[in-house]
Order: sequence, then C-alpha cells, then structure tokens
Amino acid sequence: MSELFDLLVVGDEAGLEEELGWQERALCAQTDPESFFPEKGGSTREAKKVCLACEVRNECLEYALANDERFGIWGGLSERERRRLKKAVV
Ligand code: SF4
Repeated sequence: MSELFDLLVVGDEAGLEEELGWQERALCAQTDPESFFPEKGGSTREAKKVCLACEVRNECLEYALANDERFGIWGGLSERERRRLKKAVV
C-alpha cells in the first residue's frame, strides 16, 4: 500500500497534467454524477459499480487521498473507506 502513496503527486506541473489527463477519461462523467455524492445514508452501490469498470480508478483514488477529498465516491471508495485506508497506511 505504500506504493500508492509513493505515486501521489502533489502540486508539481507534471502532476497537474496527469490529473487533467485522467479526469478526461473518468467514466463517471458519462453517468449520473449525483450517485457519486449520495445523501447521508444513501446507496453508494451504483457509483461503486461504475468505478469498478473505470480505467482511471487508481489515479482517481490517489487524487482523492492526496487532496483529502471529504465527500463522495472516489476510486470506488466512500469517504469512510478512504479514511480507513489512510489510517491503515500511516
Ligand atoms: S474511479 Fe469512479 S469516481 Fe473515479 S473517475 Fe472513475 S468512475 Fe469516476
């Protein structure tokens, strides 16, 4: 899992280009964005299913972890799951 953090790119130009690149290939951009930001207690199943088929899932998760994204599904993980992942790695 430390490999994941080794890949995190924060703030440099190459990283910015990488970020923009993966976002253009985000599968969620072709679906209902609301399912990725459900109301509290709402289902995350549909969003996670889309993430499983997304080719930039790793980049998306790395971005969310690096930028401490607090809301929504990123890289197939909920906010709580991302928090657990961070705790497990630190
Ligand atoms: S992994 Fe999920 S949230 Fe991230 S870009 Fe792909 S579909 Fe969107």
